[in-house]
Formats: sequence, structure tokens, C-alpha cells
Amino acid sequence: MLEVLVVGGGPAGMMAAGQCDPRRARVTLMEKNEKLGKKLLITGKGRCNFSNDAPLEQFIANMPGNGPFLFSALNAFSSRDLQDFFRLRGVAVKRERGGRLFPESDRSSDILTALEGFLKEKGVALRFRQRAQKILLEEGRAAGVLTEAGKVYRADRVILAVGGASYPGTGSTGDGYSLAGEAGHTILSPRPGLVPLRVAEGWVRDLQGLALKNAELSFKAPGGAVEGEFGELLFTHFGLSGPIVLSLSRRMLGQREGLTLQLNLKPALAEETLLKRVQRDLDKNSRKQYQNCLEGLLPKKLIPVVVSLSGIDPDKQAAHINREERLALTRLLQNLPLTFRGFRPLAEAIVTVGGVSVKEVNPKTMESKKVPGLYLCGEVLDVDGYTGGYNLQTAFSTGYVAGKRAAEA
Ligand SMILES: Cc1cc2nc3c(=O)[nH]c(=O)nc-3n(C[C@H](O)[C@H](O)[C@H](O)COP(=O)(O)OP(=O)(O)OC[C@H]3O[C@@H](n4cnc5c(N)ncnc54)[C@H](O)[C@@H]3O)c2cc1C
Repeated sequence: MLEVLVVGGGPAGMMAAGQCDPRRARVTLMEKNEKLGKKLLITGKGRCNFSNDAPLEQFIANMPGNGPFLFSALNAFSSRDLQDFFRLRGVAVKRERGGRLFPESDRSSDILTALEGFLKEKGVALRFRQRAQKILLEEGRAAGVLTEAGKVYRADRVILAVGGASYPGTGSTGDGYSLAGEAGHTILSPRPGLVPLRVAEGWVRDLQGLALKNAELSFKAPGGAVEGEFGELLFTHFGLSGPIVLSLSRRMLGQREGLTLQLNLKPALAEETLLKRVQRDLDKNSRKQYQNCLEGLLPKKLIPVVVSLSGIDPDKQAAHINREERLALTRLLQNLPLTFRGFRPLAEAIVTVGGVSVKEVNPKTMESKKVPGLYLCGEVLDVDGYTGGYNLQTAFSTGYVAGKRAAEA
């Protein structure tokens, strides 16, 4: 019998532990928290967007952090396989916009319960409040783990599934980088991915709490290409958050402060159409002051901001606003400039960009090319995706492969 030790009880570690063939391996899962899947529970705002049903090529294209490394793992355990896995364990699955997959119940706890049941069914031994501090090596092979409390866990195979370094309160405190680094792995510097943005403009803070459902945020990359995201955006006390901001932040990785972002409040309308719409609203309210004419166009909170930025006298009677001013207002609505002041810290990121170099991991087995007997899976690896279920599917697929292969003789 092989002894397999899985370090980390997140989605990658749970899947890996359960996939080890119990006829070949005795499996122990060690977790430093007092329970499994703390981060999993808060995913998708507690609804757990556990996968995305995009076809393989498209899936990979949505993994800006080393997507091609995942071809084998996603082939071995696809989104369809993961859906079947959960259905088989009593979790009904639903599909939402953009191929996002959720438990029908909208409860991440159903996903966790299914995984816990899987571990029980496979006889995995769980050890809580055990924090791995060092991977033990013997003749260059992984031979177990030393915990922070000084306890030694011996094993023939070690699967490292300790996650990244974002949301440290969930247990993902970046331990994997020192554990794998000391064992001889190259670590690409961890940076925030899918993270809120700080912007300079004071008026943004005044709008704190306001969500826009159909906005477009874009920036002009130094190469000249405009990159943008369309959907929901949230104003916060420091700047911008919400789904499109998180996704755009990944595209902005490496961009410097001072860059101008463009916010389009009316992205669905061509300029000419919006101009007519503005004119119609002003005509309808021709006797009112300009500042009281925009309620049909904008959420209440945004009106004073747009009025002030437009430079048109707020008290001016609507009927007296000329074509030039209408055009300027239309352009402002579709091109509100914002100054990028940097990213929020890694602790607030949805994923960690960087981690263990995938060049040193066999993509077919998830075994380390540096340390035989050591397997790595999930976010500890230098892989990351956009929002939409790509990151959890990656954790499950790489965990699946690591578990299956680690337990082979
Ligand atoms: C707020 C939020 C929402 C998200 N929503 C989504 C979503 O809807 N869809 C999606 O696809 N992705 C989402 N993600 C990303 C996704 O949660 C992660 O990519 C995924 O959890 C990574 O899985 P993992 O198993 O590799 O690591 P983790 O889930 O981070 O699990 C690692 C585990 O290892 C344990 N551990 C760490 N160090 C040690 C140690 N030294 N010894 C023992 N145990 C240790 C930790 O306590 C933790 O339990 C979200 C992330 C956040 C923060």
C-alpha cells in the first residue's frame, strides 16, 4: 500500500484525495483550518460558480495564466465530467449566462457537502489544524511533511494543494511558495489577479455603493489596442469593483499608475442614437434646469457628477442647451475618464497570479519534474483564469489528475 499525503483541503486537495485509488493507497488529507473548503464556501458570492461549460479551446483562452498547461488535465477531467461528478452525488446543476455553472440550489455548501461525502466514501483520513511547514525529502524524493507543531507525516507521495495567497483569512496564505520553493521549485512572484482597482477621482468615492448593470470599462494598452469589458460595475470607497472590473484588472496586469480608463455609461447605443436620446430628454424638460433633466438617462446619484463634469451650467434652462453642448454631454456619457491609481492588494484578489512554475510540473501527471513523488495542483501553480468558473474547474481538474496519478504504483 502506498501512503499518499494531500496537503490542503480546498477543491484541488479534496478532489485529489478522493481520486486516489483506495485499493492502492492509504490517503491522509491534512488541512490547517478546523474544517474543509473555507474559500470554496465564499466563491461566487456563496453560490459557487464551480465551472464553465465553454469548449476546451475557449476555456483555455479564458485562462490568461498559462492556459495551455491545462490541456491534458481538462481533457482528463472536463467540465462535463465535473458536472456528472456532482449530479451523481445529488447536486443538481444549472447553467447561467456565459456558460457559468452553479448548483441549482445557489448554495456553495451543497458542493462542499458532496465533496465531503466523496472523501468519506473513499476512506480518506482527515487531519485538521495541521499546518505543513516543510516537505521532507529523502534521496531527492518527497518523503512526507513536517508540520508547524513539529509532527512528521511520512508518505510515499505528497500532493501539494495549498492554494494561492489571496483572501488569507480562508487559509490560503501563500505557504505553498515556501514549501515548494525550499523543495527546489521556481516561484513566479505572486501578484493580485481579478482584483478591484483604485482610481484617483474623488467623485467616485461619493458614488460608493452604486452598481451599474450595463457599463463598459476599457483602457488603451501601450500598444494602442483598446481592451474593454461590458457588464456590471460597482463604485466603492477606493475606486471600482464588480465583475467587469475584476476581469479587466487581469488584462491590466503590469500597467502603470496614471493610465486613463474610460467608462462608457451607455455602451449599447451608437453615438448618434444617444445624441437623439439626449435631445429628446432635454426637449421633454425644456423649461427645467439642465441639472433636473437627466433622470431618464442616469441613476440619481450619478447626475450631479455628470452635470459637473460636463461643464454645462447646472442652472441653464434645458431649452438653451446648444448642439455643441449636447454633443459634449453625449461624448462624456460614453467616455468618462478615470485615472488608474493601482490595484488593491493581493489579499483582496480573487486569484493569485504567479506561483510554482508550470515548466517544472508534468502537465499529464501534475508530478514535479524536480522532486519525484511530489505532485502539485490548484492555485499554488502559476495558472489563473478570468471570472466565470474557470479557476475552480482548474483546481478540480488538476486535483483529479494529481490524485489519480499519485496513487499509481
Ligand atoms: C471571494 C472569492 C470568490 C471566488 N469565486 C470563484 C467562483 O465563483 N468561481 C471560480 O472558479 N473561482 C472562484 N474563486 C477562486 C477559487 O476559489 C480558487 O481558485 C480555488 O479555491 C483554488 O482552489 P485550491 O484548492 O487550489 O486552493 P484553496 O481553495 O485556497 O485551498 C487551499 C487549502 O489549503 C489549506 N492550506 C494552506 N496552507 C496550508 C498548510 N501550510 N498546511 C495545511 N493546509 C494548508 C488552506 O487552509 C485551504 O483550505 C473565488 C475566490 C475568492 C477569494
